[in-house]
Amino acid sequence: MLESLGKVVSKHPDYLDDALIERICEPERQIIFRVPWIDDAGQVRINRGFRVQFNSALGPYKGGLRFHPSVNVGIVKFLGFEQIFKNALSGMPIGGGKGGSDFDPKGRSDREVMRFCQSFMTELWRHIGEYTDVPAGDIGVGRREIGYMFGQFKRLTNRYEAGVLTGKGLSYGGSLARSEATGFGTVYFVQRMLETRGQTLEGKRISVSGSGNVAIYAMQKALKFGATIAACSDSDGYVTDARGIDLDLIREIKEVRRERVSEYARIKGAGSQFIPAGKGSIWNVPCDVALPCATQNELSSEDATRLVNNGLIAVAEGANMPCTPEAIRTFNDAGVLFAPGKAANAGGVATSALEMQQNASRDRWSFEKTEQRLSEIMNNIHDRCYATSEEYDEPGNYILGANVAGFVQVAEAMRALGV
Ligand code: GLU
Repeated sequence: MLESLGKVVSKHPDYLDDALIERICEPERQIIFRVPWIDDAGQVRINRGFRVQFNSALGPYKGGLRFHPSVNVGIVKFLGFEQIFKNALSGMPIGGGKGGSDFDPKGRSDREVMRFCQSFMTELWRHIGEYTDVPAGDIGVGRREIGYMFGQFKRLTNRYEAGVLTGKGLSYGGSLARSEATGFGTVYFVQRMLETRGQTLEGKRISVSGSGNVAIYAMQKALKFGATIAACSDSDGYVTDARGIDLDLIREIKEVRRERVSEYARIKGAGSQFIPAGKGSIWNVPCDVALPCATQNELSSEDATRLVNNGLIAVAEGANMPCTPEAIRTFNDAGVLFAPGKAANAGGVATSALEMQQNASRDRWSFEKTEQRLSEIMNNIHDRCYATSEEYDEPGNYILGANVAGFVQVAEAMRALGV
């Protein structure tokens, strides 16, 4: 980010006068709190909760909550920092924030998750609101968790303030197409990026890591655009299928049976293979387009070199920062199209902003209308990044384009608002 900003400052030295870079790097507020809860055995458990309210120049703080044992203040800060620029690029009036807890939902019963979410909100409610800070989901936080947190917010405040959280269920103020938005948006971005080289997704082999919403809906949209799926994964390992992955079966395994992707190879038999996580990476599989949709730093420089040697043409980050900086350098050196997460996966948060809009106007849009807005937003993000990369004489450098376009918008607003 700072490398890109060096280029902005050489064009606009005035940004240095107002200490805009230093101000942007310092969160406006950081909240760390205790989350006590009682497990099914009656044992008291303690976790740590976080909310980093990073920047509110463009609108209320906006960004997800992550529940994962790896969560600490450093992770929440890097995600929050990314979120500021992602949200600016989306073109919607939202600031940047992020939060979460080191709570591990894996293996916890539904009642335990409910008690944890209620305790988490018992502290968080005082810091959030539709005009202040609007959390949503991220890894480990989906519709179920948002529902339990919204219920507790409503109990504590005696207000039906639907716009305080996004990613809500469809029965009580959620938006159609929000679950699909991140994955669909990533694929819209890829399609637009390929068009700059006179190509499309038709007939391309794509590999998609991760087994959450982002990965599932990215695969669905890529199939719709005529691609085939070379490989997909979960944290246990990855599967391939010589006929192309059958998404209906993956969905049946993940969403209905709640089993692991390894089941896929067992059911499909010959032609399909499951490789356990310790025995190799999904990025060993040759593909034209790689969509890392699992978590940070999941794609290393060795993975990048192998992908490039196997004929890769494009990468888009469905997850937040899944490619290491060395991997990104390898892609750039090889001339591979590279879409950073803050641009490629912005469809999720952009549709959260559409959910806020529907809540504020007490309205509900159709799936088609919401998806139409999403596709326009993704095309705008692409075009803004591309135009900025051209302005800085590096056409097609989407990292530079995204960093600069996002930063300039936030910096201009901060300047207008005074020190
Ligand atoms: N967690 C998602 C992200 O990384 C969505 C955040 C939101 O909808 O507020 O952008």
